[in-house]
Amino acid sequence: MPIRQLPEQLINQIAAGEVVERPASVVKELLENSIDAGARRIEIELDAGGARLIRVRDDGAGIPGDELVLALSRHATSKIASLGDLESVSTLGFRGEALPSIASVSRFRIASRQPGAAHGYEVQAEDGRLGELRPSACAPGTEVEVRELFFNVPARRKFLRAERTEFGHVEELVRALSLVHPGLAITLVHNGRAALRLGALAADGDPRPRLSAALDAEFGAQAMLVDVAQAGMRVHGWIAPPTLSRAQADRQVLSVNQRPVRDRTIAHAVRQAYADVLFHGRHPAYVLHLELPTDAVDVNVHPAKSEVRLRESRLVHQFVMHAVAGRLAETRAGAVPSAPARYAPSMLSSEPTQGLLQVREVIGAYRSLYGTGSAAPNWSQGSPSAMSEPSPGSGSGAPADGPAEVPPLGYALAQVHGTFILAESARGLVLVDMHAAHERINYERMKGEREAGAVASQMLLVPHVLRVSAREADAAERHGERLRALGFELVRTGPDAVTLKRVPSAIGGTDVETLARDLLSDLVSRADAARLTEFENELLADVACRASVRANRRLTIHEMNALLREMEATERSGQCNHGRPTWVELSTAELDRMFLRGR
Ligand code: ADP
Ligand code: MG
Repeated sequence: MPIRQLPEQLINQIAAGEVVERPASVVKELLENSIDAGARRIEIELDAGGARLIRVRDDGAGIPGDELVLALSRHATSKIASLGDLESVSTLGFRGEALPSIASVSRFRIASRQPGAAHGYEVQAEDGRLGELRPSACAPGTEVEVRELFFNVPARRKFLRAERTEFGHVEELVRALSLVHPGLAITLVHNGRAALRLGALAADGDPRPRLSAALDAEFGAQAMLVDVAQAGMRVHGWIAPPTLSRAQADRQVLSVNQRPVRDRTIAHAVRQAYADVLFHGRHPAYVLHLELPTDAVDVNVHPAKSEVRLRESRLVHQFVMHAVAGRLAETRAGAVPSAPARYAPSMLSSEPTQGLLQVREVIGAYRSLYGTGSAAPNWSQGSPSAMSEPSPGSGSGAPADGPAEVPPLGYALAQVHGTFILAESARGLVLVDMHAAHERINYERMKGEREAGAVASQMLLVPHVLRVSAREADAAERHGERLRALGFELVRTGPDAVTLKRVPSAIGGTDVETLARDLLSDLVSRADAARLTEFENELLADVACRASVRANRRLTIHEMNALLREMEATERSGQCNHGRPTWVELSTAELDRMFLRGR
């Protein structure tokens, strides 16, 4: 075939291949145009998942009649005029591609009226042929109608998924955009039914209802505010406590300079900030907005503009990681503003159960032991070996006089089923998962020791000789230094033998041999040096888990109180290393409701 110049319509259809993948991409481009036009209110209407109809109406600046046809031609934009403009572009669009691309693969109509104008204009397009420019009686603003998307591109049409799937993509996109531009009022209607109705959020309004409406009620209620600025960068938004982690990465909204984007660097930074408090394979939920100088971001790297390039990506990574990790570290037990998981009302039957009745009796019995305003029991005497000394400043002893200030997690009353600690706090009743709590305390302590040099360790009275594989013995030899820093001394004593001499003090009487074997096989399977620090934390978490109080171990009241005080003093103690809550609280109000008191 000889070389030839492609016709305009075919060029647009090829461009549409990149920009218009499915109904959601059309909605995205149209919404971006509306936002760029300064709209305050946007109405979106879809039929059949958007395959039959997509209509977007805004109250923005509109397009003058004599520019309407131009808006539909390729590479026509009002947003940039020079390469210099591209470096500081603050509009969402700038490529001048969306309208002609969409028009080339649909039956298309655009009507627009500038706010001051006596009337508007409209033009239609079908299969690349533009109709006549006509006066229109439309409202001020712009309305775009896209019917029968891909009617002339059967190959693309075949790729459209079920109506619900396509609409799901649209809905997700609209929800994300509504969080990035909370000042917009947005309605989304599908097949004649309202799917989403979001009122505009005033600058000083409470953002939580919007978070609830756009994501879910739990996120709205429990998300923690982040707002950190440094070196010309700012990250602000909301992060969910680890207990609201998800099996999919489907509650992650990220914007860079008000542009919703996907960005692996930032997503990784957030994931790393959560690494300590999330179980492997779980995904954090967040809505984060990053503000960077415009010249630090290259927006012209992706046809649909859903990715950007960060000029200082390592700096941004560090910044975001520390901002999020810092906020998560504040979730220590008893830190009220970010209280951990509470019983959802649905988990409680309206009938008081036998178990709850017993709890009441227990409280009664123990209350008499301590009296009201009781002093903390003096537990420092009988501190058992499994528990360490309390951290300084953990509010250990009883105040000398006056009614004691009850610590946030209260005083232990009893151990329930060998697994939970029941405590009475100033606000109500606290249940602690002993194992989860102890695991978190151990882990944070060992991490601290590791950072200060090495994990505290103790010599074994009788060294254990372990038969291992040659590779494992190699690993013990090669990583000796690292193992010592983690509190282990494993010496190679043969081609396939090592001797275990020292273990972390926290492990106590646990099965040290199995732990050492697991450690070696872990070392062998993950020799990737780049990830060793991350891996080290995982190892520590594993050691902490094994060292922690096993279910069914009887604790004395003193031991229980020691554990509560340590939780209060430990960062991130609201969750265990796997992101499960370590404690829950039932307030007296909740208890009253449960027992139908005051009705
Ligand atoms: P881009 O957004 O990259 O400029 P588009 O093809 O999306 O390219 O739009 C072309 C032009 O049409 C825009 O630059 C803008 O001037 C105008 N336009 C499109 N949609 C709207 C709208 N909803 N309100 C006002 N002007 C619009
Ligand atoms: Mg555009």
